[in-house]
Amino acid sequence: MVKTFCKSCTESVIVPDDILEDMLLDAEKRGVQMVSTERYEARLNQCQNCPSLQYGTTCMHNGALIRYKAKMLDGTCPCPTGSKWIGA
Ligand code: SF4
Repeated sequence: MVKTFCKSCTESVIVPDDILEDMLLDAEKRGVQMVSTERYEARLNQCQNCPSLQYGTTCMHNGALIRYKAKMLDGTCPCPTGSKWIGA
């Protein structure tokens, strides 16, 4: 299957690793509480297997970059049928 991408959208949802790292470091400096690496990986695994993940980066329900949002202690999964991050 050929995937087609919107150029405008991909510029905002495809975030290079170094930018993402900067975003996480900035959040850490601001004192944002974050989850453990194990919990982060568990959340990302749920997202990777979720049909609501778009572009491999973004949750279609809230537009969040999952590699950023999943690191936040207060981050939530907005799945309409219930959080897929329960226990993660
Ligand atoms: S619905 Fe939940 S599990 Fe699915 S991509 Fe969004 S945050 Fe991830």
